[in-house]
Amino acid sequence: AQTPVKVTVTGAAGQIGYALLFRIASGQLLGADVPVKLSLLEIPQAVKAAAGTAMELDDCAFPLLSGIEVTDDANKAFDGASVALLVGARPRTAGMERGDLLQANGGIFGPQGKAINDNAADDIRVLVVGNPANTNALIAQQHAPDVPAERFTAMTRLDHNRALSQLAAKLQVPVTEIKKMTIWGNHSATQYPDLFHAEVGGKIAAEQVDEAWLRDTFIPTVAKRGAAIIEARGASSAASAANAAIDHVFDWVNGTEWTSAAIPSDGSYGVPEGIISSFPVASRDGKWEIIQGLEIDAFSRERIDASVRELEEERTAVRELGLI
Ligand code: NDP
Repeated sequence: AQTPVKVTVTGAAGQIGYALLFRIASGQLLGADVPVKLSLLEIPQAVKAAAGTAMELDDCAFPLLSGIEVTDDANKAFDGASVALLVGARPRTAGMERGDLLQANGGIFGPQGKAINDNAADDIRVLVVGNPANTNALIAQQHAPDVPAERFTAMTRLDHNRALSQLAAKLQVPVTEIKKMTIWGNHSATQYPDLFHAEVGGKIAAEQVDEAWLRDTFIPTVAKRGAAIIEARGASSAASAANAAIDHVFDWVNGTEWTSAAIPSDGSYGVPEGIISSFPVASRDGKWEIIQGLEIDAFSRERIDASVRELEEERTAVRELGLI
């Protein structure tokens, strides 16, 4: 039998964690033939709640789940891990300045990066979900000098999936008709969902919708969907975020021709090297590759640049705070 793959989830007692863990244990993260061991990392005051979730996982008797550990010790949690889903983060609270938010998250993602560096398996892959996800991923990466930089990624797959769903509804086509969707930049309100390369039925999506809808409805609806969910549900999106995390890791491991992921820039498309920015990506042989050769018109250029500028500002801020 195959050796189980260790998957570590931080913030495991949170609402995304609750929507995520059962799907990992059922085989949806890595494949229906891959046994998994789960490690649930939480802050001390949430360990008891995480242990409760572990009891429920036990009660599912998942055939692929070979063990569960619950801990508040990052070294233990990441020991031998091949996949790390960094979900727990310090949310922005009323009156909090950006510097305070970055500082608080630096205190989480710096030590977690070091614990990954010192303990994880050689094939470790990291997905950061906790916000500000791109910059938290950068902080963790900078504390893990022995891990290849490209193993640190941040999630824009939920934005990607939201874009697919909005466009499918507008054109009244199944989501499977849409190819080559791309989210560029930061997982924030400045993100740019690009319809100039997306194709529906083999034709460019931007040519099948009017420009006003694209500019004034589609882009803001995708970018502000998180707030709309909070308004409707009274809580932030959780199951859809967990679903996107599953999609991201599954495609990273198993391959895909085209999706969106925030990965360290190699300078492609004028995005400064090292910044963890969302790109159109393929996954081949277990590695993300930025899809090259796309023509970027002035409309797209302006929006990509604005989101990338925000990422550069966040990088400068965490440098000035001594967090990287
Ligand atoms: P959630 O599980 O709802 O969210 C966790 C993180 O995911 C937040 O930073 C949230 O950002 C982010 N996120 C990213 N994309 C999305 C999206 N599309 N929709 C919603 N959230 C998104 O938070 P909970 O408060 O329920 O749980 C967090 C848990 O993390 C707690 O149990 C806490 O104890 C734990 N924690 C653990 C740490 C650790 O393991 N060391 C450190 C810090 C916290 P946003 O807030 O911007 O929505």
